[in-house]
Amino acid sequence: MPAEDLPAILGGQPTRPEGPPGWPPDDRAVVEVLHQAATDGSWGHYHGPHSTALAEQLAAIHGFEHVLLCASGTVAVELALRGLKIGTGDEVILAAYDFRGNMQDVLCVGATPVLVDVRPDNWNMDVDRVQEALTDSTRALLVSHLHGGQVDMPALRKLADQNGVAIIEDACQVPGSLVAGRVAGGWGEAAVLSFGGSKLLSAGRGGALLTSDESIAQRVRTYTQRGNEAYPLSELQAALLRPQLDSLPKRNQRRAAAAKQVVESLADYPALVPFALPGEPGSQPGLYKLGLQFHPDHCGGLTRNAFAQAIRAEGIAIDPGFRSLHKSHSRRRFTTAGDLVEADRADSNVLVMHHPVLLEPDETLGQIRTAIDRVTAHAEAIGRELGFVC
Ligand SMILES: *Cc1c(COP(=O)(O)O)cnc(C)c1O
Repeated sequence: MPAEDLPAILGGQPTRPEGPPGWPPDDRAVVEVLHQAATDGSWGHYHGPHSTALAEQLAAIHGFEHVLLCASGTVAVELALRGLKIGTGDEVILAAYDFRGNMQDVLCVGATPVLVDVRPDNWNMDVDRVQEALTDSTRALLVSHLHGGQVDMPALRKLADQNGVAIIEDACQVPGSLVAGRVAGGWGEAAVLSFGGSKLLSAGRGGALLTSDESIAQRVRTYTQRGNEAYPLSELQAALLRPQLDSLPKRNQRRAAAAKQVVESLADYPALVPFALPGEPGSQPGLYKLGLQFHPDHCGGLTRNAFAQAIRAEGIAIDPGFRSLHKSHSRRRFTTAGDLVEADRADSNVLVMHHPVLLEPDETLGQIRTAIDRVTAHAEAIGRELGFVC
């Protein structure tokens, strides 16, 4: 066998010797803002025009009255719960496959997380499972759009209205994307964004809570204003985010087109089934990660972790996704409604491809399939080398 066909993990040349593209990207507009903030002194101020302008821009995009900029997406979820006065004795429904911090936030305000299963085609919340999870104690549905998938928000909104419960829509992975004709986040009483260092809008850290409910906004302000802002987003962070918000629609469009191409390139490859992306008009996937369902039986028995390690060695950024919440928390900390068969599968089989590759040119996207084919062709040898097969 020619050495150049060997996977990198077995000593061959990586498919992408330069490795995965970094994040954040070189962005002249961001550098200009930094320079300006250094020159005018706003980098060191408590308040300034950037925070105000960012809040106004986010309010306009999402159609909310109030935008509370804060320290992280995780804190924003907590503030949303506090703004809704959710606490001891209350229940919050969320998907059993979700960002860990969301469950921790529910626990942190003293409420009980009620976990429901996810859909087989995209491992996002299965709205059909929410009805049986509702009780007299349910106060909110905390819902995330994850890994390119989307939750059926029109159906969830209807359920929430019929039962008098609030929706907190976590748009941390999908800023600016479209869910059934509305901007992601626009379906809830409150929306949450993250500006963490790996996110599509990035200031290293940061987040935002959006709402049009005066009482939520007022309660959150009272909680966070302690003579000073207790969970602040700095003026400098706000400055960095403004140009990124301007380029977001174009980048989202490119990522959606690139994801479609990657999905098509995997159509005849049964070991990796991409999360179902929304395709109908009025929808555009948000692509912080592209989710993939791994089927080890179609990949020479290679485990998910071994497969991911071999693909990473090829210079492609792919990793196991979240742990499912019921698998990573004590059974005493939550309740469930119905079985969690799909969330069990997600826990062991989800892989996520990190978004920066989706801004690369079409030719580069083809390297993903090349890397996968190489690894697959040598699955057995890789399993032996890494010492684990299923
Ligand atoms: C990143 C993320 C968060 C939290 O954001 P941080 O700013 O990192 O605290 C919340 N929910 C989802 C779905 C996320 O991906």
